[in-house]
Amino acid sequence: MRLNNGEGAIISRGDWGFDEAVLGTSFSAEDPPYRPDIVVQANDVSDVVSAVQRAARDGLKISICSGGHSWSQNHIRDGGLLLDLSRLNRIEIDAGARTAIVGPGCLSGDFDAALAKQNLFFPVAHAYTVGMGGFLLQGGFGWNSRMVGVACESVSAVDVVLADGSLVHADETENADIYWAARGSGPGFFGVVVAFHLKLHSRPKFTGMKMQVFRIRHMEDVVRWANSVGPEVSPKVEFQMVFNRKALGIFSHGIEVVTPILADSRREARELVSFIDKSPVKKKASFTLPIIPLSLNRIMKAAEKVIFWPNTRWATDNMWLKNGPVDSLLPKIQHMVDTQPPPPAHTLWMNWNPISSARPDMAFSLESQTYFALYGGQQDKKDAEKHKNWATENARAMEENSIGVQLADENLARRSAPFMARENFEKLEMLRKKYDPDQRFFSYGDAS
Ligand SMILES: Cc1cc2nc3c(=O)[nH]c(=O)nc-3n(C[C@H](O)[C@H](O)[C@H](O)COP(=O)(O)OP(=O)(O)OC[C@H]3O[C@@H](n4cnc5c(N)ncnc54)[C@H](O)[C@@H]3O)c2cc1C
Repeated sequence: MRLNNGEGAIISRGDWGFDEAVLGTSFSAEDPPYRPDIVVQANDVSDVVSAVQRAARDGLKISICSGGHSWSQNHIRDGGLLLDLSRLNRIEIDAGARTAIVGPGCLSGDFDAALAKQNLFFPVAHAYTVGMGGFLLQGGFGWNSRMVGVACESVSAVDVVLADGSLVHADETENADIYWAARGSGPGFFGVVVAFHLKLHSRPKFTGMKMQVFRIRHMEDVVRWANSVGPEVSPKVEFQMVFNRKALGIFSHGIEVVTPILADSRREARELVSFIDKSPVKKKASFTLPIIPLSLNRIMKAAEKVIFWPNTRWATDNMWLKNGPVDSLLPKIQHMVDTQPPPPAHTLWMNWNPISSARPDMAFSLESQTYFALYGGQQDKKDAEKHKNWATENARAMEENSIGVQLADENLARRSAPFMARENFEKLEMLRKKYDPDQRFFSYGDAS
């Protein structure tokens, strides 16, 4: 390893600590059968510029990692220079202007904790350790995103190091096409974002959660109900269902209805989730809990303990479901259930139903009423191997029920699927040719 002023720490294959420097970047404990040639741990923007220049000089492709939460470990590629941005984690909040600047390596939970002190809010990711870099670039289904929009809609500008080593600022008026791409292209962005300029929001006065649990034999009734009630559920409620072989409280295969609420008061929260108490399936529930008041930060930390276990080999897949009846989907969900591995593997049904159908023109451009994701995590290597294809195979079986995938949980190296509107993808590829003509940056994983 070399520690060069102005270049960061540089660790090459064969150096002591090389494997740790590569695998230590990743939330998933999967150990892929390939490695980059070199890792650069940048400490600041000038280290990033030097790394990009070094890659050009040595003919290396660049992969990028901020928080390392890509389930597919998109940043660990075969060869090239892995640029680790986790140390670029600044948080600067201007409470008066209700704006902030964050580095890509800043963690969602750290940012939320800093905002909470000033009674401000940003739709950060649901788990504490998700990096703001990858999260914001791919769109970002964050806290209260049904209300305030996908997180990238609250990005007002980005600072980007391009393939030629230049540092540019991009917003609506300056380098507008780079700004367009930085809001939704995710792991296919053609530069290194070194800072995000953000618009902040008012912090909801009450946050809490209501839960209900069903045994898996009620799956059809519960899914039909969730699908029909979804469009009426208030955008202040994140109505989700988690399929789990050891569901909370019943310790057997079940469906956990999990509904965080971000409201103006506890009384409002009660009204907003009354649809659960009045539901036609309520009598079939094993139990229904009243609302539990919880800070977002506590929920974020709990999420990583309860379902997003660390030290786990994850193999995930996902889809935006076609809107409409679920009849043809139900047998496929039944197959997913029948083949579901033990925890922490789980499946998420998320009521998205965005209130804003008119999003700004940006790369992010694919969504539907319901998001469905399969998280095939196992801690034991043998189990992980055995269940590796569970998520991909079930997602493939559901392809005709889906319009494409969300980049948040992308698995494009194993199953290709659309992830933005066709015209947006064509525009993105045109911009890639303009800004990264030598394809210095790795693009999306490729299953073909
Ligand atoms: C436990 C867990 C919970 C999650 N919860 C949510 C959630 O609530 N909502 C949601 O929308 N998503 C969620 N995700 C998905 C997550 O947002 C994406 O995986 C996101 O890419 C993670 O960002 P990161 O910086 O941690 O990841 P990284 O793995 O560092 O980045 C992912 C990819 O983005 C690109 N990239 C990252 N940083 C930069 C940069 N600075 N410049 C250019 N390209 C860059 C690279 O191609 C990189 O491979 C979750 C993931 C996990 C593991």
